Amino acid sequence: MASLFVLVYPDDRLRIKAEPVLQFNAQLKQEIKDLFETMYEDHGVGLAATQVNIHKRMFVMDCSENKSTPLCFINPEIIYSEGEALSEEGCLSFPGVYANVSRTAKIRVKYLNELGEAQERAFENLESMCVQHEIDHLNGITFIDHLSNLKRVRLLKKLQKQQRQAL
Ligand SMILES: [Zn+2]
Repeated sequence: MASLFVLVYPDDRLRIKAEPVLQFNAQLKQEIKDLFETMYEDHGVGLAATQVNIHKRMFVMDCSENKSTPLCFINPEIIYSEGEALSEEGCLSFPGVYANVSRTAKIRVKYLNELGEAQERAFENLESMCVQHEIDHLNGITFIDHLSNLKRVRLLKKLQKQQRQAL
């Protein structure tokens, strides 16, 4: 297993639209393992393949407090949405900055698991927000795209400041 390098904004590769996964082979298995390891190491609750420069429609997620609920989503598709919810989001590609984002409250998702088996599950709260955030990544969209211009500019200034301090 290997921890992967996470692309950080404004890397253009975060804008690439991922392609559907068609082959469930050893390479895919390794990539999923690496995604989980990278997510846990960087203390994220979700990580999309796009963020590690693998442009396949898949992401991993674990929103549990004791990191005991690993979930892998391949070719995910939201098939039902209900309500609206505002919650604070962060992203491993935007280290150190957070913003309130408005999203659908409850969703139902169709996807394949790491074995290629069809799954369907409902999510709400943090998990719902996370699934929507990660599916956005697969479409080249980041959470700042949901903010007003003013809020986005403010957040990017803060991000630049953090990046300068980290040098
Ligand atoms: Zn993210």
